[in-house]
Amino acid sequence: MTEPDCLFCKIVAGDIPADVVHETAATLAFRDLQPQAPVHVLVIPKQHQPTAGALVQTDPTVLAEVIAAARDVAVSEGVSDSGYRLVINTGADAHQSVFHVHVHVLGGRAMGWPPG
Ligand code: AMP
Repeated sequence: MTEPDCLFCKIVAGDIPADVVHETAATLAFRDLQPQAPVHVLVIPKQHQPTAGALVQTDPTVLAEVIAAARDVAVSEGVSDSGYRLVINTGADAHQSVFHVHVHVLGGRAMGWPPG
């Protein structure tokens, strides 16, 4: 399932370039264009779903694959021991700007809590 006007669907299709760091049959991971930490990678399902909530209702195994891919990225980027944060922004209050579900993998520096 793809959406013709979706930015991340276009990255999956290869129509928009991305710095891909990890790929499986169901997932793709690429560096964020505006990194907020030394490691900032986005992990997405190749299928289009707007939010994690929608994906877990339609295909929970794919959401699990996204989380597994995020863990693999943390290992390959060298932050699994120092620590990393997985973020899934959902909706306007959480500042979701791209409505194709994505997990931010952030690491390489100490991060504050609570988030802003
Ligand atoms: P969110 O605000 O949680 O929806 O996150 C969307 C993220 O996508 C932001 O961190 C953007 O910097 C990032 N982004 C937008 N366009 C691209 C792109 N073409 N390639 C990589 N990252 C992008």
